[in-house]
Amino acid sequence: MAQLINGKEIANDFCQDLASKVKEVKRRGIFPKIAMINASDDPSSEIYVAKKMAMTKSLGILSEVYKYSPDVTQEELASLIQKLNADASVHGILLQSPLPRRMIFRELVNLIRPDKDVDGLTTINQGRLFSGEPGIVPCTPQGVLHLVYSVHKSIAGLQAVVLGRSSIVGRPLSQLLLNANCTVTLLHSYSKNLPEICKTADILVSAVGSPMFVKRSFIKPGTTVIDVGINRIEENGVKKIVGDVNFEEVFAIAGAITPVPNGVGPMTVSYLMSNVLQLACC
Ligand code: NAP
Repeated sequence: MAQLINGKEIANDFCQDLASKVKEVKRRGIFPKIAMINASDDPSSEIYVAKKMAMTKSLGILSEVYKYSPDVTQEELASLIQKLNADASVHGILLQSPLPRRMIFRELVNLIRPDKDVDGLTTINQGRLFSGEPGIVPCTPQGVLHLVYSVHKSIAGLQAVVLGRSSIVGRPLSQLLLNANCTVTLLHSYSKNLPEICKTADILVSAVGSPMFVKRSFIKPGTTVIDVGINRIEENGVKKIVGDVNFEEVFAIAGAITPVPNGVGPMTVSYLMSNVLQLACC
């Protein structure tokens, strides 16, 4: 049976440390602040933004939410971003995704000043990560790496397989793992022999967005399995959230595994706070 990686507890410990760092920067006259723009028509976004707000409050970070109805224009959001770019009291700007379909997320995200890009999604910050230069790194991959290190002292030389190649999870995570000297394979919807490749992994991370995608047959005994997926399903009339991994099956064979919920999710929000602090201090 696998070791259960308790993301909630690990995130709580991490946040205690963050809270004392926030106090210290406030003593130096810096008041970390994040602005969150929510024009999403996806009801889950409301929940995510509320969670992020709650976390800012508990850590003493200032926050402001700019809530728009989905019929807002791209130009209106662009001018809000410019205004926030120019506001010296704002250290981090977050553009909640998904945006309404007619908007071009990358165009808007790239209007955010790289030194206020709290999600690490601008082309400049992504380029810095890929060239090994310091910058702001997306939150979920940082959280995943933290969870991996809660199991492994060193990951140099290990085989890491990442399922999913989005610019918010899979791509930056594969780069972080590479920077940590893993041998990295990044899989996507065109990948052939996917289960066989997964079976070579010492560390397997799934960020596909498909329930029960990762099965027992994908897992080498002892593998560390990190489940990033958040999927809303209905089972016997009950709505619930599950990851990408068939937890029952994989728990029996993995070395360590994250649950969903209370795995990667709390780490993502914690690293968002950590990024605000980093931006406030630089
Ligand atoms: P995304 O942008 O939709 O990307 C999904 C990736 O999975 C794509 O690269 C896609 O391949 C790949 N994929 C889809 N079906 C596949 C298949 N059958 N075989 C192999 N690869 C397949 O999603 P995302 O934003 O990265 O999010 C992924 C999941 O993580 C979602 O459930 C999301 O809710 C969750 N998430 C959780 C957190 C957290 O904090 N826990 C944070 C972010 C996201 P192609 O590129 O070829 O299309």
